[in-house]
Amino acid sequence: MEERITLSVIKADVGGLCGHTIAHEELLEACEFVLDDAVDEILIDYYVTRCGDDIDLIMTHKLGIDNEKIHGLAWKAFEEATEVAKELKLYGAGQDLLAEGFTGNVKGMGPGCAEMEFVERPSEPIIVFCCDKTDPTAFNLPLYKIFADPFNTAGLVYDKSMKDGFKFDVLDIYEDKQITLKTPEETYSLLALIGNLEKYAVKRVHRAKDDEIAAVVSSEKLNLMAGEYVGKDDPVAIVRAQSGMPAVGEVLEAFATPHFVPGWMRGCHWGPLMPVSEEDARPSRFDGPARVIALGFQLSDGKLIGPNDLFEDISFNRAREQALKMADMIRKMGPFQPHRLPEAMMEYTSVPQILEGLKDRFEDTEKIEKIEKLRERGDME
Ligand SMILES: [Mg+2]
Repeated sequence: MEERITLSVIKADVGGLCGHTIAHEELLEACEFVLDDAVDEILIDYYVTRCGDDIDLIMTHKLGIDNEKIHGLAWKAFEEATEVAKELKLYGAGQDLLAEGFTGNVKGMGPGCAEMEFVERPSEPIIVFCCDKTDPTAFNLPLYKIFADPFNTAGLVYDKSMKDGFKFDVLDIYEDKQITLKTPEETYSLLALIGNLEKYAVKRVHRAKDDEIAAVVSSEKLNLMAGEYVGKDDPVAIVRAQSGMPAVGEVLEAFATPHFVPGWMRGCHWGPLMPVSEEDARPSRFDGPARVIALGFQLSDGKLIGPNDLFEDISFNRAREQALKMADMIRKMGPFQPHRLPEAMMEYTSVPQILEGLKDRFEDTEKIEKIEKLRERGDME
């Protein structure tokens, strides 16, 4: 049997410099120290990066997805980084480590996680996307474009290995249920669901002809898991490219026209998702706008060759300019919709309490009209 490689990307925000801007270098070093120790023991290779205030651990190994050793290792790295964050009194030190201690899997404990297991192809190009100041539904639109829109992905028309289309696993975030829809046959049904960024998130994409894994997103809603609002659940995603999958350039093309995503300041606003280099993933204006970085790797027997910082390319300059224009435009709305998120998406801020406090001051409009009429007639003092 051919040997299977697992790629695990596990992320957490354990402290920002300053506020929610970026993760401190020393936090990355603390994580690297822990992962370095595990190379050859349980890891094949690793790469540590950051997108804004989130630390992203990119790891390869042979232990499969949801493996206790791998998740425990990531937890340990974040714990070590938390110690440093506390020492430096960084903002929100340890904020994504919700549990007191590790209990077998990081899911439900705060960190976000995207993993896929596959037999490495003769050449295995993969792209790891890391975001800040948005949530997992940010990938709904680009994943649709990449795997189902022939105007984005020419290969859907020209490459016969993709002609059967792709299967999308879609998660109902609130009900914790899942449905699988196949494109192109069920394109309209898929869009009916994933166009709703309040409720549905794409979790996985498989190639239809052989069920080969093509993409995976970290779709845990951090705010819902915690039962209260504790931070933005900034997502990561992994996409495989070339040889029967969309080309690297087709995958990236989906980000050339920025789209609006939920998140930004206090996780309460719609704003553009701006594709940037690793270096420029430091959201500061109104804590944003939301960022996405794309790191390209070639796998070589599980070794991570790279990264190639794909959005550094000047051909994304216009996308960045456009994102900033979109930001200027929508920022003018201030606390008004559609800049501000709908009520249900702000459930874990103190907005519901503020509104609750005003409840008793509302009066029946009919009653007020009657009183006014009486007053006009002089029947009332
Ligand atoms: Mg963040």
